[in-house]
Amino acid sequence: MGVRGCVTGPLVLLHLPNCLPYFTLLLGALAAGCTVTLTNPVLTPTEIAHILQQTEPDIIFTQPGKAGEGVLHKAYELLRQEHAPGRTSPNVFTVDVAHYPADLPGPRTNSNSNSNSNSWTALLLPNQHPFTVPAMSAEEQAHRIAIILWSSGTTGKSKGVLLSHRALVAHPVSLGQGKEPQGGERWVGFAPFFHVFGLMNVLLFAPYIGALVFIQPKFDLRQYLSLITTEKITNLHIVPPIAVALAKSPLVDEHWCDLSSARTATCGGAPCGTEIIRAVHSRTGVVVTMGYGLSETGTVTSTPLASWDSVEPHLGASGQPVPGMEVRIRGEDGRALPPGSVGEILCRAPFTMSGYVHNAEATAGALDSEGFVHTGDLGYLDKDNWLFIVDRLKEVIKYKGFQVSPAELDAIIGGLPSVADVGTASTYSDEQGTELPLAYVVPRSPALQSLLRPPSAPATAASDPGLLALADEVRRTVEDKCAHYKWLRGGIVFCEAVPRSASGKIVRRNLGDVTGVHVRCY
Ligand code: AMP
Repeated sequence: MGVRGCVTGPLVLLHLPNCLPYFTLLLGALAAGCTVTLTNPVLTPTEIAHILQQTEPDIIFTQPGKAGEGVLHKAYELLRQEHAPGRTSPNVFTVDVAHYPADLPGPRTNSNSNSNSNSWTALLLPNQHPFTVPAMSAEEQAHRIAIILWSSGTTGKSKGVLLSHRALVAHPVSLGQGKEPQGGERWVGFAPFFHVFGLMNVLLFAPYIGALVFIQPKFDLRQYLSLITTEKITNLHIVPPIAVALAKSPLVDEHWCDLSSARTATCGGAPCGTEIIRAVHSRTGVVVTMGYGLSETGTVTSTPLASWDSVEPHLGASGQPVPGMEVRIRGEDGRALPPGSVGEILCRAPFTMSGYVHNAEATAGALDSEGFVHTGDLGYLDKDNWLFIVDRLKEVIKYKGFQVSPAELDAIIGGLPSVADVGTASTYSDEQGTELPLAYVVPRSPALQSLLRPPSAPATAASDPGLLALADEVRRTVEDKCAHYKWLRGGIVFCEAVPRSASGKIVRRNLGDVTGVHVRCY
């Protein structure tokens, strides 16, 4: 099903960092009957072009200058060069996030815009575009698409995750069960609003619970700690590398840093070691509560109660299924497994995705006929219904909570004439608390290949100028085509062969056993 098959109103693309207008634009566009797609503002033109091609937006909101309009312009240029069918010329509105909200009460108009760009304040002028909030039947709410997020799913290039109006409404209701909206909560909004975690758990859940959100467009630890201290932040929303920083960074001990207002930290997006969770608690008093979820499940699937007494006995778990969420553990034979047995985690709820944009095959692989999302994660439920994530079946690397698709990196690196074969995997950095993308590369040149065999490798080969030049070429190619979170921070291992199955598929699980010459890229 193409995007036009499931989207009835105009399609709006928000290509913005976290900023105040994000909230207004998102809810305003939804109220006006639009479907909104959210993109990471650090994507490269190539990555954006893919999304533009998939969604053909009618209206785009972005920043003026290179990071916003500039990237979009290049992306449309790429599509023109490729003669991509179905292109449209959207209305581009610029939001000067750098100046907002310095000139309150209204966002600034932008004088540097291209001729087809407009200030989005025009949209809000009375009588010009009167908004009518469409009334929707329950049936419509379940089927009409409100949001499209971007995820690599279990393999390959990013796919548009379709979330219905019902998903958006059901999520805060589920997460807020038993919590009275009482105000008094103060949060930092740095988790990206284009990602399911920032969107659902911060941007849309904050008004439900009455929380005040201090927006931080770009993460900086010192600024973050200072914001917690001065604004007396009550609850944190973090990813594991920030838990590592809270446990280890010397900044936490500086005289100006006071985290005593913070009671809990909701942590998710990737696994986090129990020793880190303990260290954060003993150092700062903050209770780290691990939640689990994915773009395809429309957000948090499971989350714990937030007191140390309730969390401690279940350390290592990623919470219990949220109200309305059914979790099933599936064995290799497809049957549901009993508590304690490890299998693929399947999730079903009114707020999970409706499918992927333009990708019936991937949709069929991820959503079964009973409505369960197949997460591609391995785990088990204990007898008290706590969920433990033990491994990942799918081919996804998580760098600081961001998805990196090894298949996408393979295609980019494998496209170089100087590379004979490649397989991308990850290596884990304890220091940073995250996985790092690492490419296993077979050089095409027989001279370079011979360096990888004893007695050259690994001692002398690591400093060979030919190999270093190839490493540089691979690094620069990835930097050119991919957003920075996909860069090869784990380095490159030059090797004689990449393990492949009889059918030619990379056996990623075996990449870790491959020996070769490791070259750092950064
Ligand atoms: P995303 O759609 O970007 O949120 O990525 C979802 C993926 O992140 C999941 O399928 C897991 O592989 C991983 N993930 C999220 N939360 C956790 C967690 N608590 N523990 C381990 N992995 C997690």
